Amino acid sequence: MDEVECHNCGVPGMIGKNCFKCGAKLQRRFSQPLLVIDVAHSGEDRVVAARKVATGIEAALNGSHRGLKVIHGRGGKTGRPGVIKNHVVGLLRREAKRLEARVAADRNNPGAHILYFE
Ligand SMILES: [Zn+2]
Repeated sequence: MDEVECHNCGVPGMIGKNCFKCGAKLQRRFSQPLLVIDVAHSGEDRVVAARKVATGIEAALNGSHRGLKVIHGRGGKTGRPGVIKNHVVGLLRREAKRLEARVAADRNNPGAHILYFE
């Protein structure tokens, strides 16, 4: 059995058990695959897209995901998707700095960026 710190309160415990202090399930940090959100294909504006990114980051961290993949669309000639893309990528870069994470373009999808927590 491996020991790990609770992601809520930092109390150490065994992986697979519940934290004795707050009851959270203890699991290896960033053990889950990327969480994927789409912020471009339901007519989102910048404000909605930014809110979805913020919620997504929180959910990904709480769920011990290794990162958050944000589908922002390819951008391009129509203007609007490009605006969302630039806004979202800028936002991810700022969050990456704050969280000591990193941002990378998705190699498999030109319309997505990934925020890796480690
Ligand atoms: Zn705890």
